Amino acid sequence: MQMIVPFLDLKAHHQPILDEINRAIREVIDSNAFAGGPFVVDFESEFAAYCDASYAIGVGNGTEALWLSLLARGIGCGDEVITVPNTFMGTAEAITYCGAQPVFVDVDERTYTMDPARLEEAITPKTKAVIPVHLFGQPADMDPIVAIARKHGLFVLEDACQAHGAEYKGRKAGTLGDAACFSFYPGKNLGAFGEAGAVVTQDAELQERIRTLRDHGQVRKYHHKVVGWNGRMDGIQAAVLRVKLRYLERGNQLRRSHAARYGRALAGMEEVIRPIQAPDVRHVYHIYAVRVPDRDEVMRFLTQKGIGCGVHYPVPVHLQEAYRDLGYAEGAFPVAERCAAEFVSLPMFPELTPTQVETVVQAVKEALDARDARVAA
Ligand SMILES: *Cc1c(COP(=O)(O)O)cnc(C)c1O
Repeated sequence: MQMIVPFLDLKAHHQPILDEINRAIREVIDSNAFAGGPFVVDFESEFAAYCDASYAIGVGNGTEALWLSLLARGIGCGDEVITVPNTFMGTAEAITYCGAQPVFVDVDERTYTMDPARLEEAITPKTKAVIPVHLFGQPADMDPIVAIARKHGLFVLEDACQAHGAEYKGRKAGTLGDAACFSFYPGKNLGAFGEAGAVVTQDAELQERIRTLRDHGQVRKYHHKVVGWNGRMDGIQAAVLRVKLRYLERGNQLRRSHAARYGRALAGMEEVIRPIQAPDVRHVYHIYAVRVPDRDEVMRFLTQKGIGCGVHYPVPVHLQEAYRDLGYAEGAFPVAERCAAEFVSLPMFPELTPTQVETVVQAVKEALDARDARVAA
């Protein structure tokens, strides 16, 4: 079957900058700086500057960025870390792999990010940290979250893996808590040619601990101060990311204009719940997810029409088989569960054309008309 509008078109994104990328990769090959090294150092300072932050530490991927941040903060066995159930599994895995227990708080029905009104009731004497997730590219409502965290002495770690360049009240994602984690998985707004991630922080001591942890706890070659891990970023990934970072703003602006176009075109459709941008927030639309009735049926229709679509995420983390032992039942987090049942993510990438957006919207309309006809019959 022919794909008329792909969900994501990385080839179209890379094609115009391939010469630049090839030259960057060649430089790494010529200098043998494959693991960590000068290209990583340069990317770290450029990415920190982009985030208006003091430090960035390049690591292997976003999940590792989360894990090392929690470890650096001393979080471990017997501790609880609060996050949301509608996130990628990696957010919770990082908590579990520290030896701590993930605790979930439901999300706001309109923004799909942590509901600050529900945070305090989840805090216990064991709580050590809170990880709000900037889902789909929209920062969580950080002011009340940080205020509650400060009151209880909790570490605030932003999961900014989908939010490169997003802003909250004029401040960049990455500077809204104590530290922030980014993923450069290829499909993210800033994506590597493989796996990569980073921690961004203003905290000199924390960044030093993360740097040590990601390099086997070494303070000098073969002198290990603590037991760490191999969490270094690859030189080739850093070199590719340095090139692609220069195009991130343009990509984010294009995503925002596609989202506005989707919003206008979908406005007349009563059954479609469109994403909103909270006041005083800059959403960077890593994902453009709408909510529809009979989602699976709508998706089958779109797929048949050659429209790429996906679900982020079909099973909330608290209901994953892997977390059966946490003992959460269906109904524990009604908003996250409802969203998981209704979400469909539509094609979204910078090179999307206005015609493609119209094609997608037309197909959504036809899918819902077909569904309405079936329900009426
Ligand atoms: C992508 C992502 C991660 C994990 O990043 P990886 O680089 O794939 O390990 C974590 N949290 C969220 C919200 C993500 O979207």
